[in-house]
Amino acid sequence: MKDKPVRKLYILPFVCLIICAVVFGVYAGNRFGEDSIEFFAMDTYCTAKTNGAKAEKVNNSIKELVKKLDADVLSRQNESSLVYSLNENRGGPITEIKDYLEVMNKVCRDSGGAFDYTLGKVSDLWDFGGNPQVPGDDALETVLSSCGADKVIISYGSVSFPEGLSLDFGACGKGIGLDEIRDNILDEGGIKSSVVSLGGSILLYGNRDFTVGIRNPESITGYVATLNLPACCVSTSGNYERYFEENGKRYHHILDPKTGYPVDNGLVSVTVVSDSGILSDILSTACFVLGLDKGMSLASKYGCTAVFIDDNKCITASKALEGKVKINADSYTLRFQ
Ligand code: ADP
Ligand code: MG
Repeated sequence: MKDKPVRKLYILPFVCLIICAVVFGVYAGNRFGEDSIEFFAMDTYCTAKTNGAKAEKVNNSIKELVKKLDADVLSRQNESSLVYSLNENRGGPITEIKDYLEVMNKVCRDSGGAFDYTLGKVSDLWDFGGNPQVPGDDALETVLSSCGADKVIISYGSVSFPEGLSLDFGACGKGIGLDEIRDNILDEGGIKSSVVSLGGSILLYGNRDFTVGIRNPESITGYVATLNLPACCVSTSGNYERYFEENGKRYHHILDPKTGYPVDNGLVSVTVVSDSGILSDILSTACFVLGLDKGMSLASKYGCTAVFIDDNKCITASKALEGKVKINADSYTLRFQ
C-alpha cells in the first residue's frame, strides 16, 4: 500500500513530458504546416503550395478566389461573368476591373498595340481551345478591322466599344488572379510563404528566396534554366502552350494584332519578372509579340526583368538577372542584354 504514491510520482514527469511533446507537436505542425492544392480554373491547371499555420485554409481560399474571379468576372464564355456581359452589350459599368483596364490600356499604348486585349473575335476564328483551324483571309480581315484598343472608351467607371469588338482577358487574367490572391488572402497573414501557379503565371510570396524553372520548350517536363528570385510574380508566354499543326506548320495562340496571325519572330518563350501579377502577365505576351530588342526595352521601361528564349536555343536575359539565372540544358546558350 505504501509503495503506490511513490510510483505515481515517478510516472508524473513522464506523463507531463508526453503531454508537452504532443501539444508542441500539434502546435509546431500547425505553425510550420505545409499544404498543397491543385485545381482547374481560367482554362488552365493551377496549384498552390503554402507554409504556415493556416496553410490549408489559405489554399482553399485561393482556389475559391480564382474560380470566382474566372466565373463572375473574367470569363468570355460564362454567361454570368462581367466580361461576357460587357461583350454582349458593347460595354457597361466596370467598377471591379477599372484599375486593371487602365493598366491594360497603358501597356497597349506603350507597346504600340503589340498587347491588344480586343482580339477576342480573332481568337474565336482560330478557336485554339476548341476546333482549331487556319481562318480564311477575308474572315480574318473583316474581324481584325473591328478590333483595336483605340476603339474602347473608358469614362466615369464605364466602358463602351463598337459592335464586332470583344474584350479578351486571356493574356492578363492569370496575372490579375495573382494580384488578387496576394492582396486579399496572403497579405492577411497566418502563413510563412506560398507559391501559387495559375498556368504560366506564378506568385512567389514570403520572406525568402525561391527557385523557379523556365520550361523546356521541347518537353513537357524539365527546365532549360532556373531563376533565383525573392518574392515577386513570374509569367511565361510560350508558343508551345496552345497550338495546332496544319501542313507541317505550327500555329500558336499568341497573335500579332497587325496580321491576326500567330507571331512568327523566332521566339519560343518570354518570361517576365515583376512585383505586379498583371504586369508580368501582360508584358510576357507583349514582349513575345515585340521580339527581343523592343520587348527588352518595354520590360525595362516598366522596371521589370525578362528572359527570352529563341528557336536557336539562345537564352537572353536582362542584365539585372546576372547571377540569378542558371542554365540547365547543355544545348542552350545564355547571354545578357
Ligand atoms: P497563356 O494564356 O498561355 O498564359 P499569354 O499570357 O501569352 O499565354 O496569353 C495568350 C492569350 O491572350 C491568348 O490565348 C489570347 O486569348 C490572348 N492574346 C493573344 N494574342 C494577344 C495579344 N497580342 N495581345 C493580347 N492578348 C492576346
Ligand atoms: Mg500573358
